[in-house]
Amino acid sequence: MKNIFEHLNKDQIEDLINRYYTEKAMDLIEEFNLEVSPSSLKKHFPPEDVGRPCPHCSTGLYRKRLTKSEFQYRSEPKKAYCPNCHHIESENCPCTHCELHRFRIREEEKKLRAEYIKNKYTIDPVNYPVYEDLSYKEKIILGAYIREGMLENFREIKPLNDFLTKFTPTKILEEQYFSFLQNHNFLEVSHHTDDNGLMILDLEAKEDILFEDYCRYNLCIKSRSLATDKLIQQILIPIKPTEDELENALLLWQELAVHECIDYYWVTIERLFGKARVGEKTLTVFSDLVRKFSVGQIYNIIYSSSNYVLRWQREKGTPNYRAVNSLIGNIQSFAEKAIINKYTLKPFRRDFNCQQSIMSKYFLEGVLNLPEAGFNTVPSLEKIKDSRSQNGDKLDE
Ligand SMILES: [Zn+2]
Ligand SMILES: [Zn+2]
Repeated sequence: MKNIFEHLNKDQIEDLINRYYTEKAMDLIEEFNLEVSPSSLKKHFPPEDVGRPCPHCSTGLYRKRLTKSEFQYRSEPKKAYCPNCHHIESENCPCTHCELHRFRIREEEKKLRAEYIKNKYTIDPVNYPVYEDLSYKEKIILGAYIREGMLENFREIKPLNDFLTKFTPTKILEEQYFSFLQNHNFLEVSHHTDDNGLMILDLEAKEDILFEDYCRYNLCIKSRSLATDKLIQQILIPIKPTEDELENALLLWQELAVHECIDYYWVTIERLFGKARVGEKTLTVFSDLVRKFSVGQIYNIIYSSSNYVLRWQREKGTPNYRAVNSLIGNIQSFAEKAIINKYTLKPFRRDFNCQQSIMSKYFLEGVLNLPEAGFNTVPSLEKIKDSRSQNGDKLDE
Protein backbone atom coordinates (compact mmCIF):
# COMPACT_ATOMS: atom_id res chain seq x y z
CA MET A 1 0.00 0.00 0.00
CA LYS A 2 1.18 3.50 -0.85
CA ASN A 3 2.26 5.52 2.23
CA ILE A 4 -0.12 8.50 2.11
CA PHE A 5 1.42 9.96 5.29
CA GLU A 6 4.91 10.48 3.86
CA HIS A 7 4.71 14.24 4.30
CA LEU A 8 3.66 14.02 7.99
CA ASN A 9 5.80 13.42 11.10
CA LYS A 10 5.03 10.85 13.82
CA ASP A 11 3.17 13.26 16.13
CA GLN A 12 1.02 14.56 13.29
CA ILE A 13 0.02 11.01 12.35
CA GLU A 14 -0.92 10.20 15.98
CA ASP A 15 -2.93 13.45 16.17
CA LEU A 16 -4.76 12.55 12.95
CA ILE A 17 -5.59 9.06 14.19
CA ASN A 18 -6.84 10.28 17.58
CA ARG A 19 -9.11 12.83 15.96
CA TYR A 20 -10.38 10.35 13.35
CA TYR A 21 -12.74 8.75 15.89
CA THR A 22 -14.58 11.97 16.78
CA GLU A 23 -14.26 14.20 13.70
CA LYS A 24 -15.39 13.98 10.07
CA ALA A 25 -12.90 12.08 7.85
CA MET A 26 -13.44 14.55 5.00
CA ASP A 27 -12.34 17.48 7.15
CA LEU A 28 -9.22 15.66 8.29
CA ILE A 29 -8.30 14.68 4.69
CA GLU A 30 -8.41 18.35 3.74
CA GLU A 31 -6.59 19.59 6.82
CA PHE A 32 -3.76 17.03 6.51
CA ASN A 33 -3.68 17.26 2.73
CA LEU A 34 -4.16 13.53 2.05
CA GLU A 35 -4.80 11.77 -1.25
CA VAL A 36 -7.41 9.23 -0.14
CA SER A 37 -11.17 8.76 0.01
CA PRO A 38 -12.86 9.10 3.45
CA SER A 39 -13.94 5.45 3.47
CA SER A 40 -10.43 4.08 2.95
CA LEU A 41 -8.56 6.45 5.27
CA LYS A 42 -8.61 3.97 8.19
CA LYS A 43 -6.91 1.27 6.09
CA HIS A 44 -3.78 3.43 5.87
CA PHE A 45 -3.32 3.85 9.63
CA PRO A 46 -0.10 2.20 10.80
CA PRO A 47 -0.59 -0.38 13.62
CA GLU A 48 -0.20 0.92 17.16
CA ASP A 49 3.09 0.27 18.93
CA VAL A 50 2.05 -1.45 22.18
CA GLY A 51 5.27 -0.64 24.00
CA ARG A 52 5.89 -4.21 25.22
CA PRO A 53 8.27 -6.80 23.80
CA CYS A 54 7.13 -10.24 22.54
CA PRO A 55 7.66 -12.82 25.33
CA HIS A 56 9.15 -15.29 22.84
CA CYS A 57 11.46 -13.21 20.61
CA SER A 58 11.58 -9.73 22.24
CA THR A 59 10.44 -7.94 19.07
CA GLY A 60 8.11 -5.00 19.87
CA LEU A 61 4.40 -5.92 19.84
CA TYR A 62 1.82 -4.09 17.72
CA ARG A 63 -1.95 -4.03 17.55
CA LYS A 64 -4.39 -3.06 14.79
CA ARG A 65 -6.46 0.11 15.18
CA LEU A 66 -10.17 -0.03 16.02
CA THR A 67 -12.74 0.93 13.39
CA LYS A 68 -14.94 3.94 14.06
CA SER A 69 -17.92 1.82 15.03
CA GLU A 70 -15.81 -0.43 17.28
CA PHE A 71 -14.63 2.76 19.00
CA GLN A 72 -18.21 3.99 19.37
CA TYR A 73 -19.29 0.66 20.86
CA ARG A 74 -16.33 0.84 23.26
CA SER A 75 -14.83 -2.41 22.01
CA GLU A 76 -11.76 -3.83 23.72
CA PRO A 77 -8.48 -2.87 22.02
CA LYS A 78 -7.37 -5.41 19.38
CA LYS A 79 -5.05 -8.22 20.52
CA ALA A 80 -1.34 -7.38 20.38
CA TYR A 81 0.76 -9.45 17.93
CA CYS A 82 4.38 -10.01 17.13
CA PRO A 83 5.29 -9.25 13.50
CA ASN A 84 8.34 -11.52 13.80
CA CYS A 85 7.16 -14.85 15.28
CA HIS A 86 3.39 -14.35 14.83
CA HIS A 87 2.66 -14.69 18.54
CA ILE A 88 -0.70 -13.21 19.58
CA GLU A 89 -1.49 -12.14 23.14
CA SER A 90 -4.32 -14.60 23.55
CA GLU A 91 -4.94 -17.83 25.46
CA ASN A 92 -5.39 -19.73 22.23
CA CYS A 93 -2.43 -18.24 20.39
CA PRO A 94 -1.60 -20.62 17.52
CA CYS A 95 2.13 -19.76 17.39
CA THR A 96 4.51 -22.71 17.77
CA HIS A 97 5.92 -21.43 21.07
CA CYS A 98 2.50 -21.24 22.66
CA GLU A 99 1.38 -24.60 21.21
CA LEU A 100 4.43 -26.25 22.70
CA HIS A 101 3.90 -24.51 26.03
CA ARG A 102 0.27 -25.68 26.24
CA PHE A 103 1.30 -29.20 25.23
CA ARG A 104 3.85 -29.29 28.08
CA ILE A 105 1.23 -28.08 30.57
CA ARG A 106 -1.22 -30.76 29.39
CA GLU A 107 1.45 -33.45 29.69
CA GLU A 108 2.31 -32.23 33.16
CA GLU A 109 -1.37 -32.31 34.17
CA LYS A 110 -1.73 -35.82 32.79
CA LYS A 111 1.29 -36.91 34.79
CA LEU A 112 -0.06 -35.35 37.98
CA ARG A 113 -3.46 -36.94 37.37
CA ALA A 114 -1.98 -40.38 36.77
CA GLU A 115 0.17 -40.06 39.92
CA TYR A 116 -2.84 -38.91 41.91
CA ILE A 117 -4.92 -41.89 40.78
CA LYS A 118 -2.08 -44.32 41.43
CA ASN A 119 -1.48 -42.92 44.91
CA LYS A 120 -5.09 -42.93 45.92
CA TYR A 121 -6.53 -45.96 44.17
CA THR A 122 -3.83 -48.61 43.76
CA ILE A 123 -4.75 -51.91 45.34
CA ASP A 124 -1.87 -53.79 46.92
CA PRO A 125 -1.44 -57.13 45.08
CA VAL A 126 -1.37 -58.77 48.51
CA ASN A 127 -5.08 -57.94 48.68
CA TYR A 128 -6.00 -59.18 45.18
CA PRO A 129 -8.71 -61.83 45.21
CA VAL A 130 -7.45 -65.37 44.57
CA TYR A 131 -9.14 -67.07 41.63
CA GLU A 132 -9.18 -70.51 43.17
CA ASP A 133 -11.07 -69.16 46.20
CA LEU A 134 -14.01 -67.84 44.17
CA SER A 135 -17.36 -69.60 44.18
CA TYR A 136 -18.76 -70.96 40.91
CA LYS A 137 -21.14 -68.04 40.52
CA GLU A 138 -18.37 -65.54 41.21
CA LYS A 139 -16.17 -67.08 38.53
CA ILE A 140 -19.02 -66.82 36.03
CA ILE A 141 -19.78 -63.19 36.92
CA LEU A 142 -16.12 -62.29 36.55
CA GLY A 143 -15.84 -64.21 33.28
CA ALA A 144 -18.85 -62.52 31.69
CA TYR A 145 -17.74 -59.10 32.91
CA ILE A 146 -14.26 -59.27 31.44
CA ARG A 147 -15.46 -61.04 28.31
CA GLU A 148 -17.36 -57.92 27.36
CA GLY A 149 -15.18 -55.33 29.07
CA MET A 150 -11.56 -56.41 28.70
CA LEU A 151 -9.47 -54.06 26.57
CA GLU A 152 -6.79 -55.24 24.19
CA ASN A 153 -4.00 -54.72 26.70
CA PHE A 154 -5.51 -57.61 28.73
CA ARG A 155 -5.28 -55.57 31.87
CA GLU A 156 -7.87 -52.80 31.71
CA ILE A 157 -11.65 -52.99 31.57
CA LYS A 158 -13.69 -50.41 29.74
CA PRO A 159 -16.38 -48.43 31.58
CA LEU A 160 -19.63 -50.28 32.18
CA ASN A 161 -21.32 -47.46 30.31
CA ASP A 162 -19.39 -48.37 27.16
CA PHE A 163 -20.46 -52.04 27.16
CA LEU A 164 -22.19 -52.75 23.83
CA THR A 165 -24.07 -55.68 25.30
CA LYS A 166 -25.56 -55.06 28.71
CA PHE A 167 -23.88 -56.93 31.54
CA THR A 168 -27.03 -58.41 33.15
CA PRO A 169 -30.74 -58.43 32.17
CA THR A 170 -31.69 -55.67 34.64
CA LYS A 171 -30.02 -52.70 36.32
CA ILE A 172 -30.77 -54.11 39.80
CA LEU A 173 -28.82 -57.26 39.07
CA GLU A 174 -26.05 -55.28 37.42
CA GLU A 175 -25.68 -53.23 40.60
CA GLN A 176 -25.45 -56.41 42.68
CA TYR A 177 -22.80 -58.02 40.49
CA PHE A 178 -20.85 -54.84 40.02
CA SER A 179 -20.78 -54.11 43.78
CA PHE A 180 -19.53 -57.63 44.33
CA LEU A 181 -16.60 -56.94 41.97
CA GLN A 182 -15.89 -53.58 43.56
CA ASN A 183 -16.19 -54.63 47.15
CA HIS A 184 -13.87 -57.59 46.70
CA ASN A 185 -10.95 -55.63 45.25
CA PHE A 186 -11.28 -56.86 41.68
CA LEU A 187 -11.38 -53.33 40.32
CA GLU A 188 -8.69 -50.71 40.66
CA VAL A 189 -9.32 -47.30 39.05
CA SER A 190 -7.09 -47.06 35.98
CA HIS A 191 -4.92 -43.97 35.61
CA HIS A 192 -6.32 -43.73 32.07
CA THR A 193 -9.76 -42.89 33.49
CA ASP A 194 -10.84 -39.55 32.05
CA ASP A 195 -12.78 -36.70 33.63
CA ASN A 196 -16.09 -38.47 32.97
CA GLY A 197 -15.01 -41.30 35.28
CA LEU A 198 -13.05 -39.41 37.89
CA MET A 199 -13.26 -35.69 38.46
CA ILE A 200 -10.43 -34.42 40.64
CA LEU A 201 -11.64 -31.48 42.71
CA ASP A 202 -8.51 -30.86 44.75
CA LEU A 203 -5.16 -32.52 44.10
CA GLU A 204 -3.67 -31.53 47.47
CA ALA A 205 -6.67 -32.42 49.58
CA LYS A 206 -7.20 -35.62 47.55
CA GLU A 207 -10.79 -34.73 46.87
CA ASP A 208 -12.53 -36.19 43.85
CA ILE A 209 -15.81 -37.60 42.59
CA LEU A 210 -15.87 -41.10 41.13
CA PHE A 211 -18.49 -41.98 38.50
CA GLU A 212 -18.36 -45.76 38.67
CA ASP A 213 -20.18 -46.55 35.44
CA TYR A 214 -17.85 -44.25 33.49
CA CYS A 215 -14.63 -45.38 35.12
CA ARG A 216 -11.96 -47.49 33.49
CA TYR A 217 -10.57 -50.19 35.78
CA ASN A 218 -7.53 -52.42 36.03
CA LEU A 219 -8.46 -56.01 36.73
CA CYS A 220 -6.99 -57.28 39.99
CA ILE A 221 -6.86 -61.04 40.38
CA LYS A 222 -4.22 -63.63 41.14
CA SER A 223 -3.90 -67.38 41.07
CA ARG A 224 -1.99 -69.93 43.10
CA SER A 225 -0.88 -71.77 40.02
CA LEU A 226 -1.27 -69.58 36.92
CA ALA A 227 0.60 -66.51 35.70
CA THR A 228 -1.64 -63.48 35.09
CA ASP A 229 -1.92 -63.87 31.28
CA LYS A 230 -2.79 -67.55 31.53
CA LEU A 231 -5.21 -66.80 34.34
CA ILE A 232 -7.10 -64.22 32.28
CA GLN A 233 -7.34 -66.61 29.34
CA GLN A 234 -8.70 -69.18 31.75
CA ILE A 235 -11.35 -66.77 33.14
CA LEU A 236 -12.49 -65.88 29.62
CA ILE A 237 -13.42 -69.48 28.86
CA PRO A 238 -16.83 -70.36 30.30
CA ILE A 239 -16.33 -73.29 32.67
CA LYS A 240 -18.75 -76.13 33.23
CA PRO A 241 -19.84 -76.74 36.82
CA THR A 242 -18.37 -79.68 38.71
CA GLU A 243 -20.63 -82.15 40.53
CA ASP A 244 -20.46 -79.98 43.69
CA GLU A 245 -21.35 -76.85 41.77
CA LEU A 246 -24.51 -78.11 40.05
CA GLU A 247 -26.87 -76.60 42.63
CA ASN A 248 -25.13 -73.22 42.41
CA ALA A 249 -25.29 -73.31 38.63
CA LEU A 250 -29.04 -73.92 38.84
CA LEU A 251 -29.50 -71.03 41.28
CA LEU A 252 -27.59 -68.75 38.95
CA TRP A 253 -29.68 -69.84 35.97
CA GLN A 254 -32.86 -69.17 37.94
CA GLU A 255 -31.59 -65.78 39.06
CA LEU A 256 -30.89 -64.77 35.45
CA ALA A 257 -34.27 -66.12 34.34
CA VAL A 258 -36.03 -64.07 37.04
CA HIS A 259 -34.30 -60.93 35.83
CA GLU A 260 -35.04 -61.71 32.17
CA CYS A 261 -38.70 -61.79 33.25
CA ILE A 262 -38.46 -58.55 35.24
CA ASP A 263 -36.83 -56.92 32.21
CA TYR A 264 -39.81 -57.82 30.01
CA TYR A 265 -42.28 -57.02 32.81
CA TRP A 266 -40.86 -53.49 33.01
CA VAL A 267 -40.84 -53.04 29.28
CA THR A 268 -44.50 -54.13 29.21
CA ILE A 269 -45.51 -51.75 32.00
CA GLU A 270 -43.70 -48.87 30.38
CA ARG A 271 -45.34 -49.55 27.04
CA LEU A 272 -48.86 -49.82 28.40
CA PHE A 273 -49.03 -47.84 31.64
CA GLY A 274 -45.95 -45.64 32.16
CA LYS A 275 -43.45 -45.76 35.03
CA ALA A 276 -42.55 -49.16 36.52
CA ARG A 277 -41.38 -50.11 40.02
CA VAL A 278 -40.06 -53.38 41.29
CA GLY A 279 -41.39 -54.55 44.65
CA GLU A 280 -40.74 -57.56 46.84
CA LYS A 281 -43.76 -59.30 45.34
CA THR A 282 -42.40 -59.01 41.81
CA LEU A 283 -39.25 -60.89 42.80
CA THR A 284 -41.17 -63.56 44.72
CA VAL A 285 -43.65 -64.20 41.92
CA PHE A 286 -41.02 -64.50 39.20
CA SER A 287 -38.72 -66.60 41.41
CA ASP A 288 -41.63 -69.00 41.74
CA LEU A 289 -42.56 -68.94 38.04
CA VAL A 290 -39.07 -69.75 36.76
CA ARG A 291 -39.29 -73.10 38.54
CA LYS A 292 -42.26 -74.07 36.42
CA PHE A 293 -41.98 -72.24 33.12
CA SER A 294 -39.36 -71.21 30.64
CA VAL A 295 -38.63 -67.49 30.25
CA GLY A 296 -40.32 -67.59 26.82
CA GLN A 297 -43.50 -68.95 28.41
CA ILE A 298 -43.40 -66.37 31.19
CA TYR A 299 -43.18 -63.68 28.49
CA ASN A 300 -46.41 -65.14 27.15
CA ILE A 301 -47.98 -64.96 30.63
CA ILE A 302 -46.85 -61.34 31.10
CA TYR A 303 -48.20 -60.45 27.67
CA SER A 304 -51.59 -62.10 28.20
CA SER A 305 -52.02 -60.75 31.74
CA SER A 306 -51.13 -57.20 30.75
CA ASN A 307 -53.63 -57.37 27.86
CA TYR A 308 -56.26 -58.45 30.33
CA VAL A 309 -55.38 -55.69 32.83
CA LEU A 310 -55.35 -53.07 30.10
CA ARG A 311 -58.82 -54.11 28.94
CA TRP A 312 -60.11 -54.11 32.50
CA GLN A 313 -58.63 -50.66 33.05
CA ARG A 314 -60.28 -49.26 29.91
CA GLU A 315 -63.65 -50.80 30.75
CA LYS A 316 -63.73 -49.72 34.40
CA GLY A 317 -61.77 -46.47 34.11
CA THR A 318 -59.34 -47.74 36.76
CA PRO A 319 -56.46 -45.35 37.55
CA ASN A 320 -53.05 -46.24 36.14
CA TYR A 321 -51.33 -46.98 39.47
CA ARG A 322 -54.04 -49.52 40.38
CA ALA A 323 -53.76 -51.19 37.01
CA VAL A 324 -49.97 -51.45 37.42
CA ASN A 325 -50.31 -52.72 40.98
CA SER A 326 -52.74 -55.41 39.92
CA LEU A 327 -50.53 -56.71 37.12
CA ILE A 328 -48.20 -58.87 39.19
CA GLY A 329 -51.19 -60.51 40.97
CA ASN A 330 -52.73 -61.18 37.59
CA ILE A 331 -49.56 -62.77 36.32
CA GLN A 332 -49.50 -65.03 39.35
CA SER A 333 -53.11 -66.17 39.00
CA PHE A 334 -52.79 -66.59 35.23
CA ALA A 335 -49.84 -68.93 35.85
CA GLU A 336 -51.77 -70.90 38.48
CA LYS A 337 -54.71 -71.33 36.09
CA ALA A 338 -52.34 -72.42 33.35
CA ILE A 339 -51.01 -75.19 35.57
CA ILE A 340 -54.42 -76.37 36.83
CA ASN A 341 -56.00 -76.35 33.39
CA LYS A 342 -52.87 -77.70 31.72
CA TYR A 343 -52.73 -74.87 29.16
CA THR A 344 -50.15 -75.29 26.47
CA LEU A 345 -48.23 -72.05 26.76
CA LYS A 346 -46.44 -71.20 23.55
CA PRO A 347 -43.08 -69.66 24.38
CA PHE A 348 -42.55 -66.14 23.07
CA ARG A 349 -39.42 -64.92 21.36
CA ARG A 350 -37.16 -62.35 22.93
CA ASP A 351 -38.64 -58.86 22.77
CA PHE A 352 -36.59 -56.39 20.73
CA ASN A 353 -36.41 -54.10 23.76
CA CYS A 354 -35.03 -56.85 25.98
CA GLN A 355 -31.55 -57.31 24.62
CA GLN A 356 -29.80 -60.52 25.61
CA SER A 357 -27.25 -59.77 28.34
CA ILE A 358 -23.62 -60.82 28.37
CA MET A 359 -24.27 -62.94 31.50
CA SER A 360 -26.88 -64.85 29.60
CA LYS A 361 -24.63 -65.32 26.56
CA TYR A 362 -21.64 -66.33 28.62
CA PHE A 363 -23.41 -68.64 31.05
CA LEU A 364 -26.43 -70.02 29.24
CA GLU A 365 -24.89 -70.30 25.80
CA GLY A 366 -21.23 -70.64 26.72
CA VAL A 367 -21.51 -72.94 29.72
CA LEU A 368 -24.82 -74.73 29.32
CA ASN A 369 -24.87 -74.86 25.51
CA LEU A 370 -28.51 -73.85 25.53
CA PRO A 371 -29.66 -72.37 22.25
CA GLU A 372 -31.36 -68.96 22.52
CA ALA A 373 -29.76 -68.68 25.96
CA GLY A 374 -32.11 -71.08 27.64
CA PHE A 375 -35.05 -68.99 26.64
CA ASN A 376 -37.32 -71.94 25.97
CA THR A 377 -36.06 -74.21 28.70
CA VAL A 378 -37.27 -74.42 32.29
CA PRO A 379 -34.12 -74.16 34.46
CA SER A 380 -33.33 -77.63 35.81
CA LEU A 381 -30.49 -79.75 37.14
CA GLU A 382 -31.07 -82.32 34.39
CA LYS A 383 -30.37 -79.76 31.67
CA ILE A 384 -27.21 -78.67 33.44
CA LYS A 385 -26.07 -82.27 33.78
CA ASP A 386 -26.80 -82.87 30.08
CA SER A 387 -24.70 -79.87 29.14
CA ARG A 388 -21.72 -81.30 31.00
CA SER A 389 -21.56 -84.26 28.68
CA GLN A 390 -21.46 -82.00 25.63
CA ASN A 391 -18.34 -80.23 24.63
CA GLY A 392 -18.41 -76.84 23.07
CA ASP A 393 -17.24 -74.00 25.17
CA LYS A 394 -17.25 -71.54 22.37
CA LEU A 395 -19.34 -68.43 22.31
CA ASP A 396 -20.61 -67.15 19.04
CA GLU A 397 -20.08 -63.42 18.95
ZN1 LIG B 1 7.74 -12.85 18.78
ZN1 LIG C 1 2.09 -17.36 20.91
